[in-house]
Amino acid sequence: MRLLLVNPKCPESYWSFKWAVDTVLPDIRTTTPPLGLATLAALCPESWEVTIVDENVESVPLAPSADVIGICGMGVQFARQRELLTFYRKKGYFVVAGGSYASLCPELYDSLADTVVAGEAEYIWREFCRDVAIGKPKKLYRETGVVSLTDSPAPRFDLLDLTKYQTVSLQFSRGCPFRCEFCDIIVMFGRKPRTKSLEQVRKELDLLRAANVRNAFFVDDNFIGNKRAAKELLRFLRDYQREHDYRFRFGTEASLNLAHDDELLALFREAEFAWVFIGIESPDEDSLRETRKFQNTRQDILSSVRHIYSYGIDVLGGFIVGFDHDTIDTFERQYQLITTSGIQTAMVGLLTAVPKTPLYERLAKEGRLVADWNSSDNTQLGTNVIPKQMGYDEMVSRYQTLQHRLVTHRNIADRIKNKIRYLTKPPVKSVMTPREQLRIFVRLVVGALLPGGIGRLFQFFRSLAFARPRLIPVVVEDWIVGLSMRDYAERHYVAPVERAREPARGYLRSFEKAFRHYVHEGALEISFDEVRHAAANLSISMKGWLDRRFFTRAARHLEQVLEGTTSCITLHIEELHETQRRHLKRLLDRLSRYGDRVHVAVREELRGIIEIDSSVFNLVLDF
Ligand code: SF4
Repeated sequence: MRLLLVNPKCPESYWSFKWAVDTVLPDIRTTTPPLGLATLAALCPESWEVTIVDENVESVPLAPSADVIGICGMGVQFARQRELLTFYRKKGYFVVAGGSYASLCPELYDSLADTVVAGEAEYIWREFCRDVAIGKPKKLYRETGVVSLTDSPAPRFDLLDLTKYQTVSLQFSRGCPFRCEFCDIIVMFGRKPRTKSLEQVRKELDLLRAANVRNAFFVDDNFIGNKRAAKELLRFLRDYQREHDYRFRFGTEASLNLAHDDELLALFREAEFAWVFIGIESPDEDSLRETRKFQNTRQDILSSVRHIYSYGIDVLGGFIVGFDHDTIDTFERQYQLITTSGIQTAMVGLLTAVPKTPLYERLAKEGRLVADWNSSDNTQLGTNVIPKQMGYDEMVSRYQTLQHRLVTHRNIADRIKNKIRYLTKPPVKSVMTPREQLRIFVRLVVGALLPGGIGRLFQFFRSLAFARPRLIPVVVEDWIVGLSMRDYAERHYVAPVERAREPARGYLRSFEKAFRHYVHEGALEISFDEVRHAAANLSISMKGWLDRRFFTRAARHLEQVLEGTTSCITLHIEELHETQRRHLKRLLDRLSRYGDRVHVAVREELRGIIEIDSSVFNLVLDF
């Protein structure tokens, strides 16, 4: 049996750190590998030939040699997952849908997949493998019981090119004892944390060590959901590294009550955890109570963050605006909290209701869901939640302003200053060699600090002036994160969509004017669609002979559209002569920086001569 497992491309978000990946870390393609697929591969019978394609780092194959194709996905990947399922199914492949979104909403996949795997895979995937081998796969495999993580095999890391990822994920536990109203984790994994054995973790660490991985991310829902088990694991991790004289740089996700347990914090330090992501959500106690995030109300948030810093552990934070108790003043308080806490990786999102969560059910009853909003990325300029104490447009516009205020050079420097005042010597020395560190530093200086002008340079040196020598890597890292978020904000929060259409129409008019000659000859067709709540789309169909001059000028015009608006571009390649290939390639190279907003549709007969990297551009499959 030949099985192909595909992780669809994630739309770009704050989490992608695209600027950092493109400018400073050129060997890396994305942040984390698809751990779920590597685990699924390990659950397959040994005789199966399994391949994993992660579309975030490589192009999907259009005619793979496979008997079964499994496609996973989170909510943000649903659109691409649906496209891939439909494409492969139409070509006659047997397709299986899985992942967290299929687990939450299996009914959405009824007409898309031959089989849907909903829920934790450890038992039901093995059952599917048995059934498909005898030719009797069922339509739905749904896990309704409790999965023991001791039955989870070590992921097949060997099927992934781990050098393409900034950090490699592994998992110790699933589930979280808390009950935040917006959270889908507890809907999927329950409130009783389950853990793997230390022997299982040892095996996974051995595999990562053999692959020379240093940055390791425990993607647990809440690493300290079961504190006793977490402490036991931390002691084990500390001893493991000493025993093997091998340093990992660990990171994880945990709840804020981590700050209230000094023994736990000391163990985090001894086990060499460099950072922890914490859902802080709001500076307002009423909003925290409303969303049942009581664990964040028990101690002052700022002191808790600083207490974690005092153990040398960096804090990354999640923040939400749009709770029922939030007013327009909340935006200023969020700004103050984020700035004063010094959290550089501050993921601020609009409250978004994920289907099946208590929040979704409540808002549905109250008639407060936006029907035609279907993105689960909560960092977009919109959400499916109608706020209570402010207008929808006002909330979105204030959110946009907040994001811009957080990425000024001054704010990036202020946050570094506010952090390193409390951050003690980190437990882990850099896992990079001095040569690698120097390379990154030079790229930061040449690729970002010098071109950023005197203001950026001044703020960089201002933040550096406060740092003790051991903290200089933290300053450099925070500038990479800060500039990455700045780049994202500049490209994605250009203007609310409605207003962005005006300049987009202007660009379209100038584009039409510049290329009128080709349109008259029938070699080109240009149109412009506007979609509510979405960026406008400039569509260009290449239908005949286009000379070299066209490609050069089109690249310049299209770059202007992408730089100056939030619009997307779709290139329909209906005809292309062999000799035009290299001109098209040059055009695409210039647009690749904006690849997430460029859709490329290639007529089936031309797919053999034009290769479009679907990990860079949105390759339209239904064309
Ligand atoms: S602490 Fe985090 S994982 Fe736990 S319920 Fe709240 S949001 Fe979900």
